[in-house]
This record gives sequence, structure tokens and C-alpha cells, in this order.
Amino acid sequence: MKYSAPRGTRDYLPPYSTAMREVVRRASEVLESYAFLPVDTPIFEASELFVRSIGEQTDIVSKEMYTFADRKGRQLTLRPEGTASVVRAYLENGLEQLGVERLYYVGPMFRYERPQAGRQRQFLQLGVEIFADPGPEVDAEVIQLLMAICQAVGLTGLTVQLNSLGCPACRAGYSDSVKAALASRISSLCPECVQRLEKNPLRVLDCKVERCTDAFSEVPSIQESLCGACREHFESVRSLLGRLDIPFTLDPRLVRGLDYYTRTAFEVQIPGATGAQNAVGGGGRYDLLVEQLGGKPTPAVGFAIGLERLLSLVQSQGVDILPPGGKLVYLAATSAEGRARALELASALRARRVACLIDRSRGANLGKQFKQAGRMGARAVAVLGDDEVEKRAVAVKDMVTREQVTVPMERAVEQILAVLARVETPAGKVERS
Ligand code: AMP
Repeated sequence: MKYSAPRGTRDYLPPYSTAMREVVRRASEVLESYAFLPVDTPIFEASELFVRSIGEQTDIVSKEMYTFADRKGRQLTLRPEGTASVVRAYLENGLEQLGVERLYYVGPMFRYERPQAGRQRQFLQLGVEIFADPGPEVDAEVIQLLMAICQAVGLTGLTVQLNSLGCPACRAGYSDSVKAALASRISSLCPECVQRLEKNPLRVLDCKVERCTDAFSEVPSIQESLCGACREHFESVRSLLGRLDIPFTLDPRLVRGLDYYTRTAFEVQIPGATGAQNAVGGGGRYDLLVEQLGGKPTPAVGFAIGLERLLSLVQSQGVDILPPGGKLVYLAATSAEGRARALELASALRARRVACLIDRSRGANLGKQFKQAGRMGARAVAVLGDDEVEKRAVAVKDMVTREQVTVPMERAVEQILAVLARVETPAGKVERS
């Protein structure tokens, strides 16, 4: 029997996996500059947590959850998104009393969707949540943060789509407008939309079926239904984005597929891409969710970025995200004593955090070992051949300049560090840093 990764999942192999680590490293640097702290929550939670927070009528809850009963019959779900879990953790651990308000996470999410380009059943999200701040400034700040992360990985040309979903008061009026606008088109809607129009009219706008989206041209903009306070909040967010030089486009149809959003909703979209897979990331305010999950009223705002989509965009824009290589030291040896000394030298180098690899061919000639070092992209090769072993010496070769110097064993680390400290200029010349 041949095994393969389950449908909709993938293996993350080098160099993709290295690039993904680099994306997360750069994003974490940006996040630290916004004073976010990391949080990790379990990969599964009680199903009820997601049903209550994301909403029963959403695609995620009605069609896409990986739900199972454990051996004691508890209903559990592999998390389809991060916000519900972080809110649960915030409440369960009394983070409010500890003054922890800015959290970020990176990890896999699971949705039973039809796999296609940009859509997997297990995918990575990086997300942030800010609690206890109702001000429009944090809305602008998280949108800026999302853009800053995209810029930190080298992306250009991304656009922010912006909308306000109002509060329950504005939403009630808007739901009525959606119902009224679609009343005469009901026969052309898909059965799911007909059902949603009854139970949760805003969710109708998530539908991607063409005959339904055609009918949506009849639906008025939610912005016309906003109450005074929500209107003012939204105006402030827009004005602050202007002051931060963040261009955005108003999109009155952006409803984001999850019930917990209130007021500001946003998405960062891939320029030129259309359809359901065009968003790199998105989020918004969810001022009622903490209370809905048993806490006291606590405004909150956040977003999630899909890391595979982010990285595929990085690749399609031709950005080289791989960290600069060329710092590997390859240790070549021709005898058991040579390999033992190579092991000692490698531990001295690794104590200085120098990446090294000892030849594993056990006796292949030095020519072959050099070839292997070249294939691995080694910057330096330390040779412990028969001559060197006899003289208690090491030959250190710079694989770029081809210069080779033999030094006593005690000076090997110093010599290797000197080679690694040479900086390659774009013209391929080598300078000493
Ligand atoms: P959402 O939690 O639905 O707001 O999604 C936030 C981001 O996660 C999206 O913009 C995508 O980049 C990513 N994402 C959502 N679903 C998937 C999926 N099935 N496969 C890959 N990425 C996804």
C-alpha cells in the first residue's frame, strides 16, 4: 500500500519550508514592533465554541468543520480559525486582569473545502487580536500592521478593501433591506440563499453562485443603514487610514463569512485576482464576541493572514525570500581519526552557532567530498585528511575565492570564522566585513 498526504493537505518541504519559516520570522519582527505577544491554543476545541462564535448559518460551520467525537463522546472540532480559541483563552485565563491585550498566533487551521489553488483543507494562518480598545485608531493600526507584514515579505501592489458591518441595531435594519431587495428575485436564488435570507440575511452575500451574485446588484449598500455612532467610527477609520497613507477601496459587499464581525471589516486582496481565493488576509472588529462567550463587554479587533497564499504571492511576484545562505561549513575527513576530529571541530563551531555538516560518505575521496560540499552550497570546507591528521592541522578552503589556508587545529575556528565574515558584493567580489 502506498500512503499519500490526505486530500487537501500537503507536505512543506525545503526550500518551501525554509521560505515559510522566513515569512514567519519577518512577520514576528513586525509584530514585536506593534507590541504583540505570542499565544498558542489547542488545535481542537469543543465544537460548540465555533458554532456559537462563527455562526450556524456560515459556510464554515454548516459545511466545513472537521468535527468528531472523542472516546468519551465529547464533540470536538479541529479549529477552522483562530479568533474563537483566542477569545476562549483570554477569558479562561483572566488575561484581561493581567493586562494582556495584544496577542498573535501562527498555526494550522482546518476546513473541509473543495481543494484548489489557494485553498487547502489544512492551511497556516497568522492572526492577531487586540482586546479592550474600542477606538478607531486600533482599527487603522491593525490594517496598517497587515500591510506592514505584507511589505516585510517583499510584496507590492496590494489593496485594502474596507467596509463597515455596523452594530446589531444597524444590522437589523440592513437585514430587512436585504430581504426587501431580494424579495422579487427569490426564484432566481440558490436554495441555500433562500434559506439564509430567512435565517441570517447578511450571510446571503457570502454566496458565490453566479445567479445569486447577479441578484446582489439589487441589494443596497450597508453603509446607508449605519447608525450615527457606527457611521462616525467608520469615518474616523477612513480618515486615520488616509493619515497613515494607506490606500483603500470601499466595498459595501464585503461581509467576511463569519457572524461575529461588527463595524469595521477589511481584506487585503491580491491585485488582479478574482473569485473566492483573492484574499491574502482579512479581519475586522468583533465587539460583541467576548460577551457572547461569557465575558464582560469587551471590544476587540483582529485579522488573519493565510500564509500559503501570502507565500505563493511572494513567489509569483518573483521576490527572493530565502534567507541568505552561504554560511555552511562542510567538514571533510578521510579516516576514523579525521572524522573524530571533525566532530570535535564541529562542536566548537556549533557552540558559536556556525552551521556545519560532517561528510557522511565514510572514506569517499576528497574530490567527491568537495563536490558534495559544493552541492550543499557550503561557504567553507575544513579538510581533515591524512596529512592534516598527522600534523594536527586543518586545511580551510574558501569555496568562493578558492583560497586555501592550512592552520594548526587550535586556530581552525578562528580561520573558518574569518572566511565566513567575508561579505560577497553583488558583483561577486569578496570584501572583508
Ligand atoms: P478567513 O479566516 O476566512 O477570514 O481567512 C483568512 C485568510 O486565510 C484568507 O484570506 C486566506 O488567505 C486564508 N484561508 C482561508 N481559507 C483557506 C483555505 N481553505 N486554504 C488556504 N488558505 C485559506
